Amino acid sequence: MPQITLKPDREKSLLRRHPWVFSGAIDKVIGSPQTGETVDVLSARRELLGRAAYSPASQIRARMWSFNPKETVDVDFFRRRIRAALQNRSALGLAPLPQPISPWKIGEGVKAVTDSVRLIHAESDQLPGLIVDRYGETLVLQSLTAGSDFWRETLADLLLEETGATAIYERSDADVRELEGLPSRNGLLRGNLSSFVFPLTEYGLKFNVNIETGHKTGFYLDQRANRHLAGTLALGRDVLNCFCYTGGFSVHALAGGAKSVLSVDSSSDALALGRENISLNGLPADRADWLEGDVFFVLRKFRDENRSFDMIILDPPKFAPTAAQAEKAARGYKDINLLAFKLLRPGGLLLTFSCSGGIDAGLFQKIVASAALDAGIDAKIVRSMTQDVDHPVALNFPEGAYLKGLVCLKG
Ligand code: SAH
Repeated sequence: MPQITLKPDREKSLLRRHPWVFSGAIDKVIGSPQTGETVDVLSARRELLGRAAYSPASQIRARMWSFNPKETVDVDFFRRRIRAALQNRSALGLAPLPQPISPWKIGEGVKAVTDSVRLIHAESDQLPGLIVDRYGETLVLQSLTAGSDFWRETLADLLLEETGATAIYERSDADVRELEGLPSRNGLLRGNLSSFVFPLTEYGLKFNVNIETGHKTGFYLDQRANRHLAGTLALGRDVLNCFCYTGGFSVHALAGGAKSVLSVDSSSDALALGRENISLNGLPADRADWLEGDVFFVLRKFRDENRSFDMIILDPPKFAPTAAQAEKAARGYKDINLLAFKLLRPGGLLLTFSCSGGIDAGLFQKIVASAALDAGIDAKIVRSMTQDVDHPVALNFPEGAYLKGLVCLKG
């Protein structure tokens, strides 16, 4: 097997079980590993530290599959990893296939929260680069790295066997693949599908998802619990949902008794699905307004028009994928949070999020605090939020904690 040996002292992060080997830590590559091929990883003292996937085009030159020198990386290895991830979801009350899922029931009298679950969350499930989301009976696979691409066919076969799903759609079209030198792929990987648009259920509400053209794998499953929370806080409120995508927070808010919901997004396709999602749930369309536009511009316009709301949701896209873009991103977050605080009535709630890996929870809270200060208002945090339970964070991989959110109450 090809090998990589590390420079002296560069094994420290691996001994803490952090799975990334950066190019600068590598002393020698022995043999000629292909893109994504498994390599032995050795310390400068030639201790075998485990096995990794080799990514020659990436700064993250190798990602550890296993820290156990006795473990070989083969079909059975991936079967064990997939089973462990599925068992973890079961333990959380989120049923993997092939458990009966109609109508969203696990066992006797226990109602599952959803039929759509992240089954595999990459590094945090010890499968770097691999994302697998289940939408009902269909799996959507996203491979982000050379290693997960190398094993793609094996992974697809195993996923069908282990979950009982009948189809896998591949959404390996994320921009980060460019850093790995991998081409973009979007298409059916296994089985047949009569349609790429179908409904999922969460907390009893239905959402049409487009797995072919939707963002990520089609839906922001990570926000499930936070959407539900928003629903429980929405009664009687005039809600402004910024960066609404297909209306996830809007549907929950209306179902929770919001007086009105105005949803803003720059994508007309997302808004069209959002409208459908209101009628899919039999909710009053006359209480839901949709606005296509740039939130930065819309919030300013609303401020100039003296508009006000009782609940504002800010769930923007990633402004800072890495720490290097954090400063510019911080200005963006501050700008929209400041404007939102101004538009909020006293007693109003701001649900504000950041999914930027480059901005940690502490920094995000500081940004929101300085936005409140500059808006000249008093606000307190009444709840902190994070990604839902099917997006775990391995303790050895803090980078897995990307989503942070605060519910702020304006005094
Ligand atoms: N809250 C949503 C997910 C939001 S994803 C949910 O729970 O499903 C972020 C959304 O922001 C995307 O739909 C994207 O189209 C939109 N977006 C990105 N930049 C924008 C901008 N400047 N103005 C308005 N919408 C924007």
